[in-house]
Amino acid sequence: SQRVVIIGAGIVGTNLADELVSRGWSNITVIEQGPLSMPGGSTSHAPGLVFQTNPSKTMTLFAKYTVEKFLALEKDGQSCFNQLGGLEIATTQERMEELKRKHGYAQSWGIEANLISARECHQKYPGLNESIVLGGLHIPSDGLALAARATQILIESTRNAGVKYLEHTLVTGIEQASGHVTGVTTNKGSVPADIVVSCAGFWGVEVGKMIGLKVPLLPLGHQYVKTTAVPSLKNREVNSKINAMNAEYPILRYQDQDLYYREHGEQMGIGYYGHRPMPVNAADLGVTPEKVDEKHMPSRLDFTSEDFAPAWKASQELFPALRETEIADGFNGIFSFTPDGGSVVGQAPNLDNFWVAEAVWVTHSAGVARAVAEVLTEGRSKIDISELEITRFEEIQLSPEYVSETSQQNFVEIYDILHPLEPKINPRNLRVSPFNARQHELGAFFLEVGGWERPHWYEANAELVKSLPEEWKPVDRDAWSSRFYSPIAAAEAWKTRNAVAMYDMTTFHRFEVFGPAAVDLLQRLTTSDITRAPGAITHTLLLNQHGGVLSDLFVSRLEEDFFQVGANTATDLAYLVREARHQSKLDPARWVQVRDVTGSTCCLALMGPRARDVVRDISPDDFSNKSLPYMSVRKQGMGGIPVTLFRKSFVGEHGWEIQTTPEFGQRLWDLLWQAGQPHGLVAAGRAAFNGLRLEKGIRFAGSDFSSEYNPYEAGITYAIQRDKKADYVGKSALEAASRRTPTKRLRCLTVDDGRSMVLGKEPVFRDGKVAGYVTNAAFGYSVRKPIVFAWLPKDVNDGETIEIEYFSRKIKATVVSDPLHDPQHRRLHD
Ligand code: FAD
Repeated sequence: SQRVVIIGAGIVGTNLADELVSRGWSNITVIEQGPLSMPGGSTSHAPGLVFQTNPSKTMTLFAKYTVEKFLALEKDGQSCFNQLGGLEIATTQERMEELKRKHGYAQSWGIEANLISARECHQKYPGLNESIVLGGLHIPSDGLALAARATQILIESTRNAGVKYLEHTLVTGIEQASGHVTGVTTNKGSVPADIVVSCAGFWGVEVGKMIGLKVPLLPLGHQYVKTTAVPSLKNREVNSKINAMNAEYPILRYQDQDLYYREHGEQMGIGYYGHRPMPVNAADLGVTPEKVDEKHMPSRLDFTSEDFAPAWKASQELFPALRETEIADGFNGIFSFTPDGGSVVGQAPNLDNFWVAEAVWVTHSAGVARAVAEVLTEGRSKIDISELEITRFEEIQLSPEYVSETSQQNFVEIYDILHPLEPKINPRNLRVSPFNARQHELGAFFLEVGGWERPHWYEANAELVKSLPEEWKPVDRDAWSSRFYSPIAAAEAWKTRNAVAMYDMTTFHRFEVFGPAAVDLLQRLTTSDITRAPGAITHTLLLNQHGGVLSDLFVSRLEEDFFQVGANTATDLAYLVREARHQSKLDPARWVQVRDVTGSTCCLALMGPRARDVVRDISPDDFSNKSLPYMSVRKQGMGGIPVTLFRKSFVGEHGWEIQTTPEFGQRLWDLLWQAGQPHGLVAAGRAAFNGLRLEKGIRFAGSDFSSEYNPYEAGITYAIQRDKKADYVGKSALEAASRRTPTKRLRCLTVDDGRSMVLGKEPVFRDGKVAGYVTNAAFGYSVRKPIVFAWLPKDVNDGETIEIEYFSRKIKATVVSDPLHDPQHRRLHD
């Protein structure tokens, strides 16, 4: 098999070696700078609490697998997981509500979880001060991972299977030829390799630098202490299993005070996130010394007791027995934080076969390792890893300043109650469209995406709400779903359906694909025939080899060998750029290039039944269906500005996305604005857009579907062309999928009471049992009901009533066929 080098023998590197071995790989070398018996990275001192439940389905499933694997990882009759259960307590009403939401996630992702009373919390954890606890969330399958022990067992078993371990060996460089990795340089010589995976933990930034790869993580210190013996924990009669694993009670989170707890025999272990962020430069920590022990390792900094003072006070209040103890030992342990709190996994965009798996907790370690092994073996992970992708970050998000500021903010907020739409406070205004000044004048409310400022509604439209027809009047919402929302969205939606509205589309990813092999590249990667004549727009999909959906694209052919692609993410860009590189290598005379033009263009969508009236007042050109039909594109001048008109719509109305370059942006806005006033034009934001989009049944990559689903399941077959002759990635798998009956489908639902909102990721119940989960939801103003998309079993029929759980409350909803708005698409073709 191919030669693999894994850098780092922490919990991630050793798990990866194991996952590869179990898939038949041989020829694996693990290189570790420290001693193998205790390498000295974060794993060497991790207390190993595994709370599985997470808003992310992927991370929850990775945690679940880690639990299963560590439970089965045994030596001398003792496993590497102590399944004590996990308890998260609430001491405020807000936290109690948050635990209800978390209970929802657990159900959505298939983890047994129970909301329990303060009394029950006390029963599960007798030392707790019941008077300050309001209740809790108990997860029976959570517990303690014995990470250092698991690492040793995995080293032993993989070594027996032929994996070579080099200890006290520092990787100092990555060798490459023609864009491929060829090996690593170490202080003891070169090690050749066909594939290199960096599992270097918080040293990942330094390893990345060796190939000019920015790994967006920040090493931060985090306080952990052990108390002296707790009187009530002394001389306990505990069963032998618990005795061996040093703990009896559930692992515990007290998030209102940024604290967590576990037992170490008679001592209590306390972790604290409430202190100031303590950033560290991994390069300054130097090479691991020859000798590493419990108290001396590069990932362990001296304890700063003054930072722990509030934690100690709060802990003694929660556990009065701690008043009879002291801090026996404390340290500031280092591990990785990232701009969005997610792990950093995947192939380097700038070097083939160089991979990273970093910023991974013990909790997710085996799951991440399995995913990487699956990608290397089969070309995909069964559990979608797009939210972990190293390529998910925009260029601005890779700057050291951004990584430092946002990762520190993530540390501060790690246990905070955050709304799904909660914006970053800082840094803001990193990327603004040329319409930004005008948007401010109209009182835009901005949220941030990928560094961009994106308007969600405009206060200037507030007056319109009062004059809305009765059937368009916004309905009241609960406090949680009212956050980062305004009823003004109802007025903006009404204008879009009944007059005309203008949306800033600048934040959408736009790439140019050009060169003699542009057609070859797009034919090879997409599900549609893109050889139609210049002027055509094709909605198409990117699939993996297994028929799973990576993304959907709008491919506009501007010239024979020149396309513009509307895409979803920075990962789409990295994929297309890599594939273009490969394509060009086949025959240098037939090259193709992919260039990101998102920031060097700007775009306004003019949408609504009166859109044509607006453009007619500006331009003498022919805007008829004959001249510029639906899904076609044309370059022209408009009021003296060079623009490209794309006749397509995310909101299901007649109109154009009008693109120009930023220097003309403000002029384009003013031109449309003035011409639009007699026709009732308003500026509209993302809040209205989302509702209109769901009414039109348009699914979004990432939230509605992912690589885990094929287009038949996701209901996006409109973006595949069944009679496409040319071969493309995923074609045979897709054909096979077309002959299979899908087991699940993405379905549209409307909420029966016409007002109860949900926000996404809530569990869906059928006959009282969890049957799926919500992907997206928004109020459908023209159908006057909340609209929900959810994954449900295949046999769920239209008209069936199901229930969605929101803050422990069951909301009835009905399965409907979609799209709800203009199913014949008359408005698009008008
Ligand atoms: P590491 O264990 O750091 O392994 C990376 C290895 O790479 C190191 O051994 C290093 O020596 C080696 N290496 C790096 N660079 C090179 C090079 N150039 N050449 C050769 N070798 C190299 N997680 C949880 O899930 N639950 C918890 O309760 C928990 N508590 C924590 C408490 C503390 C105080 C800390 C600090 C962390 C905690 N974590 C917890 C996080 C967890 O410990 C880490 O995320 C995890 O151990 C990282 O594993 P890793 O294998 O990626 O990194």
